[in-house]
Amino acid sequence: MLPWFDQIFLQLSARIEQRKLHHAMLFQGPAGLGKSQFVMGLAQRLLCSEPQTNMACGVCQSCRLNASGTHPDLHQVESDKQIGVDAIRESIKKLVGSAHMSGAKVLIIHHADTMTESSANALLKTLEEPTDSTFLLLTTSRPERILPTIKSRCEKHTLPMPDLATCIKWVENQYKGEIDPNFARLFSARPLALLEELQQEQKFTFAVFKQGLMDLKTGSKNAAQLGTEWQEFADKVIKWSQYWLREQATLSSNKASVDLLFRINKQASIVANQMSNPGINRALQLVTLLNGIAQVNKVNSF
Ligand SMILES: [Zn+2]
Repeated sequence: MLPWFDQIFLQLSARIEQRKLHHAMLFQGPAGLGKSQFVMGLAQRLLCSEPQTNMACGVCQSCRLNASGTHPDLHQVESDKQIGVDAIRESIKKLVGSAHMSGAKVLIIHHADTMTESSANALLKTLEEPTDSTFLLLTTSRPERILPTIKSRCEKHTLPMPDLATCIKWVENQYKGEIDPNFARLFSARPLALLEELQQEQKFTFAVFKQGLMDLKTGSKNAAQLGTEWQEFADKVIKWSQYWLREQATLSSNKASVDLLFRINKQASIVANQMSNPGINRALQLVTLLNGIAQVNKVNSF
């Protein structure tokens, strides 16, 4: 379990032991805190057939099925946009009848705030009339968007956030490297978001960027390929392109190529402005810029 959840996990685990866990629970906390990990851990504890002092044992058949993501009594609903009524109806159907593994049945609804009104209404009956050993675990980072009728039927918990030191220690452990505390402070309540940010940075370094430009020059990749590959790092690509173009301009003694470099650099500024446009095709914008750089490569060497 994530260390900042230890205490609440132990409390809830003790209630499972005493068979006093509420059948419907809503957990709130910011995105990147680890809510999914928390409810998955709780589900594993609920389904484990031989729990060891408040923890799932990790070795029984239930735990092994959970580890492989194939437990027949654990159901999950999640959607990038909206959780529709069909998804809710289908998952409720799965809760009917006895458990496959003679234990509990668990339904996790991730980002419960994305349920439509009809989805929420479809869920109400299950919340009001729980069947035996059935548990509904809901998570949200936007509790204000959840219908009051749903909220009032759930036991609500605000998940605890780690302090800065705990956050840094955990992320450094996962990341296997040191982290600047000032940078970590920006993410102190969201350690998983910080880790993701760092891993992204690791994935796209300046060396990777320079290699891409080299591939562009030798023709082993074209601008369209690179533009697609790099679109998630678009802001970095633009910034580094501008840096690289300026550097090339100071190195070049050929007036025609300096003019070209300035023209492309201007284009880079335009692309950078375009990127803040919500509907923009980021890959296409990058391709335009990279095509410009490919032209530079033809007249210049680097
Ligand atoms: Zn177990």
